[in-house]
Amino acid sequence: MPTRSRGRSIALALAAALLLLIAYASTFAISYGDWFRSADTLLAADVARLAPARITQLEHARDVEQIRAVIADARARGLKVSIAGSRHSQGGHTYSAGGLRLNMRSFNRILAIDTVARTITVQSGATWDEVQRAIAPHGLAIKVMQSSNIFTVGGTLSANAHGRDLDVTQVVEVVQRFNLLLADGRVIDVGRTTHPELFSLVIGGYGLYGIILDVTLRLAPDELYEQHAAVMDYRDFPRYFAEQVQGDSGIVLMLARPSIDPDSAEFLREIVVATWRRALPGRTGSYALTEEANVLRDRFFLGLSRRFDWAKSLRWSLQKKIELGAGQQRLVSRNNAMRPPLVPIELLTYTSRRNTDIIQEYYVPVEHFVAFMDRFRDILRSGRVNVMSSTVRYVSPNATPQLAYAPSRPAFAIIQMSNVGLSADAQAHARDVTRRLVDAALEYGGTYYLTYQLYPTAQQLHRAYPNARRAFERKRFYDPDELFTSQFYEAYGRTP
Ligand SMILES: Cc1cc2nc3c(=O)[nH]c(=O)nc-3n(C[C@H](O)[C@H](O)[C@H](O)COP(=O)(O)OP(=O)(O)OC[C@H]3O[C@@H](n4cnc5c(N)ncnc54)[C@H](O)[C@@H]3O)c2cc1C
Repeated sequence: MPTRSRGRSIALALAAALLLLIAYASTFAISYGDWFRSADTLLAADVARLAPARITQLEHARDVEQIRAVIADARARGLKVSIAGSRHSQGGHTYSAGGLRLNMRSFNRILAIDTVARTITVQSGATWDEVQRAIAPHGLAIKVMQSSNIFTVGGTLSANAHGRDLDVTQVVEVVQRFNLLLADGRVIDVGRTTHPELFSLVIGGYGLYGIILDVTLRLAPDELYEQHAAVMDYRDFPRYFAEQVQGDSGIVLMLARPSIDPDSAEFLREIVVATWRRALPGRTGSYALTEEANVLRDRFFLGLSRRFDWAKSLRWSLQKKIELGAGQQRLVSRNNAMRPPLVPIELLTYTSRRNTDIIQEYYVPVEHFVAFMDRFRDILRSGRVNVMSSTVRYVSPNATPQLAYAPSRPAFAIIQMSNVGLSADAQAHARDVTRRLVDAALEYGGTYYLTYQLYPTAQQLHRAYPNARRAFERKRFYDPDELFTSQFYEAYGRTP
């Protein structure tokens, strides 16, 4: 072959190899399967896609009269109703087979902002992002929300979500009142003193008592925080937390990240503790809302780490470096500490047909943190769980919700996100490991978060939530025909 044409062949082969490599690399950041998937609107699932089911009808909430009409029509036709917000719960809480799903996302108007009393009244389908955009121009910020801002107000109340705040940790503490549409079509204005039972059932009640319409919430001033981080051994964390974090009234938010480096002895031992402390008067910084950036780049690294342990080690070392910030002073507004890019979310979108990312959360009394972490690590290691991230937050006790996850003792919330297969075998394995983790939490006087998978047994649920039986009985008092239902209720709460 003449030299020139051989050179061309080699160049072509190299170009083809490069293209193949780029195509392969892009699969870590892009779910190509989505491009060819037909949109079957009646095949319901939540974001984790663990237990899809065919529903009969999908409705989008517009206004109260239309919602009332949808409910009346469903009753007349004998259809069960499930309520959906952003659908980030992971246990079929927002649908049931053969039922009607009411999607609340378009019921999202901001009704009032009181800058003096620092409150907002908002329709329940609004996301925290929409709330932040409305209140930031008034110098206000959200007091309690999840770490990410994509969730709806209604979904947050129904899970009684917690955040990273240290003084007010659960959303139940900032709810002043809400309107609730009951199964019989009545609307009740529920406050903690006017209707204490409904208040305590609906918050943390997973949409089983009625439809939350509009909600009034306490807000906080938007202020500037200095972000710091320290690295330590997990055994030193409880003392560090008590002395350096809780002992410092300037610190407002805290999030700790245990190592996810599976190749190192530091796996779930080394822990980076990030804190946000009120900046000293006179410090200036930007209050303009920030947005998510570099989504494809970050998805690429996350995608690599889903498949390869070396990539998890790399991700952990990069993350640690970023969190520690090489000693530089970082100023961030309260609103921006609670939105991307500091808390990215687009990055987590993942829709493989073979596997999915799941989250789990265990609430363990502060004094048992170290012992629980030892069990947690052992169970995850021996179960060969593909741990993608882990965080620790603080939750102060609150017994108001009937389904309270930390009713009487201060707890650390220990969270892990892992990638699990969708095959029957992989799911059975995930279920077994989860049950062992729940048992460990129970053994140390803890509980687990009901917002995730249906893996725990009914017995485990009732041990973790001794009021659950009563909560389900009262559901049938307020909703005798069990109009409002979900996969979650059918698994644990329905009439025996
Ligand atoms: C990436 C990620 C991060 C998370 N971070 C945190 C965190 O930091 N802290 C935390 O506590 N939790 C966290 N969660 C869990 C999350 O708070 C809950 O799953 C929450 O319910 C999600 O809100 P949603 O709008 O997606 O609700 P959905 O999943 O849509 O619904 C959740 C429940 O609320 C009910 N519901 C929704 N709207 C209404 C309504 N208007 N009226 C009555 N019932 C309604 C539904 O029926 C369902 O039972 C996280 C979850 C994910 C996936």
